[in-house]
Amino acid sequence: MLVRLLLVWGSGCEASQRRVKAVQLVAGVDLGGTAINYTFLNEQEEFLIEGMCEHPSRSKEGPEVCLQQIGDGLKIAAQQAGVQLSDVTVVGLDTPGPSSAAGVLSAKGSTNFVHPNWAGFDIREGLERRVGKSVTYLNDGNAGALWGHFRFFGANNRATSISAVIGTGLGGGVIVEGNVVKGRKGFGGELGHVLLPFHGIAGIDGLAPECNCGRKGDLESLCSLTAIENSLLPFFLTKYAGHELGKVRNLHEAAKLVRGLAENGDPMCREIFRVQAHALGLFFDKMVNTFDPDALIVGGGALEAGEEFQRWFLDQIRAGMPEQREEQADIPLYLMPNGDTAGARGAAIEALRFLGESRLG
Ligand SMILES: [Zn+2]
Repeated sequence: MLVRLLLVWGSGCEASQRRVKAVQLVAGVDLGGTAINYTFLNEQEEFLIEGMCEHPSRSKEGPEVCLQQIGDGLKIAAQQAGVQLSDVTVVGLDTPGPSSAAGVLSAKGSTNFVHPNWAGFDIREGLERRVGKSVTYLNDGNAGALWGHFRFFGANNRATSISAVIGTGLGGGVIVEGNVVKGRKGFGGELGHVLLPFHGIAGIDGLAPECNCGRKGDLESLCSLTAIENSLLPFFLTKYAGHELGKVRNLHEAAKLVRGLAENGDPMCREIFRVQAHALGLFFDKMVNTFDPDALIVGGGALEAGEEFQRWFLDQIRAGMPEQREEQADIPLYLMPNGDTAGARGAAIEALRFLGESRLG
């Protein structure tokens, strides 16, 4: 899940200084449970909105109200960014999953989309009807991964990257030779539920990390805010008697304080983040051997921290990776930029890729 920073209208929607006149544009629409974030992207691969540009999603009121909100917000965002809506040829949409690769939400409903009419709803097709333009679809994890990939490789490339986004859960995605791996049923890039040989991580003998999906020892059960709350913090508090987090009212509140304390050098909280980084190292090792990728990318709320902490965490990921063969030992490990806008930007990049392909076709 992507961390979202809510800003009020007017502060984030100003057009970028780099804007150039373009005939054709695409839009990026990141639909969340409470807010929609917008961006625009031109054919020179320049984003026309720098920060967040939000409109209420009213998703609790069901698909019809929400689609109306998306359309209304798109007009306002275009005005704010100084673009003509008629220049927008493709709209890229992303939403939380689970959903099919084609944009049909799960029959059980999607995360944060609680109205009964969302069950099995074809949101891509619904938006296409509403705005009268072609609409592409990605889930929010894959959209974030595509943004991370674009940042380092651009929109038209044949590079391969793996992005892991550490938030409440563990999201991300896999881009192979420039294309998002969506999978047969839309579950491509569900990195959080890949099982790890976690017993090899030092200092966690006796830890039994369990994921909400039912698996024991998958990446999300070790590397997410939920993992801190459910497994890592209770485990380490028994080893650090009298730690200040043991006095916090409940684990949910205490878990949110771990990152800040780790950044300030608290030994227990650093240990918790070291274990998370080493779990990620084991996971990335699987990816290196599966895809021989051009880059590994890591982002999310866990890394919205100072540079020293970020560098230390990246070093710990490498330290947690088993030894690599000589040809792969120098694989770049990047930090994903601009977490708040990742969904909208990734959705826009998918729309731009669709625009390029439809011309070729
Ligand atoms: Zn899981």
